[in-house]
Amino acid sequence: METIVKKGKERGMYENVLEQFEKAADLMDLDPGIRKILVNTNNEIVVHFPVKMDDGSIEVFTGYRVQHNNALGPYKGGLRYHPTVDIDAARALAIWMTWKTSLVGLPYGGGKGGIQLDPQKYSESELERITRRFTYALGDNIGPDLDIPAPDVNTNPQIMAWIADTFAGIKSPSVRQKNLHVVTGKPVGSGGLSGRDRATGFGVVVSIENWLKLKNESVSGKTFTVQGFGNVGYWASKFLVDKGAILIGVQDASTTIVSMDGMDPEELLSYSQSNNRNLKNYPAAATILDEDFFSIESDIMIPAALGNQITSINHGMIKAKLIAEGANGPISTIAEKHLLENGITIIPDILCNAGGVTGSYLEWLQNKRSENWKMEEVLERIEDKLSEAFRNVYKLAQAYDTDFRTAAYIAAIQRLEITYKERGVFP
Ligand code: GLU
Repeated sequence: METIVKKGKERGMYENVLEQFEKAADLMDLDPGIRKILVNTNNEIVVHFPVKMDDGSIEVFTGYRVQHNNALGPYKGGLRYHPTVDIDAARALAIWMTWKTSLVGLPYGGGKGGIQLDPQKYSESELERITRRFTYALGDNIGPDLDIPAPDVNTNPQIMAWIADTFAGIKSPSVRQKNLHVVTGKPVGSGGLSGRDRATGFGVVVSIENWLKLKNESVSGKTFTVQGFGNVGYWASKFLVDKGAILIGVQDASTTIVSMDGMDPEELLSYSQSNNRNLKNYPAAATILDEDFFSIESDIMIPAALGNQITSINHGMIKAKLIAEGANGPISTIAEKHLLENGITIIPDILCNAGGVTGSYLEWLQNKRSENWKMEEVLERIEDKLSEAFRNVYKLAQAYDTDFRTAAYIAAIQRLEITYKERGVFP
């Protein structure tokens, strides 16, 4: 999901995540030794691998997997296929996963990776060979008890199925079945979890509802906009509209559309599916300039595309009272300062979009126990976990008199600090 934004004086996502960390670490007076551990990534794997294209030519791709920290359990986090994937992006995204899994209380650490490519340029069969060869190149650097990838930007259940099949396929037959949960977000027929597809968008809505509850309000009648109409953007919109909210603006990589009467997410999705996966020329809404997206007046805005979208240049246009981060790192640290000064609440990515990895955890457990869980059960468990995390963040925001992001970091880091203090550092 690519979006068109003007570049401000922003730094990269890696600098952003470190600045966010420093702010929380200072406020909670984090032990200096543990601070040193947490600003570093444990392992950074870069692989270059050749793949045969449909026309018989060879292309060499670069893939990444950064493993930030595994004090709380195996590394966990998605793989994205996008031209912006590089070592710094993978680092930042891996670090966010460590905070996210810790905040929600999952037995995982943080990892992230992907391949630097534009998947639109490749056929299905090329994407399959690229994925399988990437999996082969990663080899035993991933594994069901070591590092468990999942979908992220431009990756999906089909890609996870190819990874699981390749990873398990190169193991000996006696242990093959024990390796299929090397990835989560698989198709339901291949050990995937019923409800994992909607887990992230569902979690975004749970977070929004938790915030509204503080003010005795509900989502019904609230207007919202969404940037990015991939998996997260679609499902968040669908759940919100089903609960009576009104979707008045959508931006995807190809266009920005508005309709004050509200748009139907299901209609948008079927249009996009029949239109080369984009919303360009959608007939039931008006098209506006891409740069005007953030100035649409709405109660809630959901950035659900890429990082660093809300910047020093466009933050002043935002009129929403609440920004619910469906994407990872959509707001630069410079923009965030201004937004907070203007009284805009931000539900941070590591809380707001944690429904996805929580769903992944349930899928992993389901696979380990050879069970099949029902969607209602899954969504209920995700709601419980995220609501508990929300209450904790809210409590810490009050106690430290700080914003939700910093409070969420404090909650995440506290759990890691306890673990390190209990265990000590080997030898
Ligand atoms: N890519 C998602 C995220 O950023 C999900 C990760 C996972 O399920 O492991 O949270």
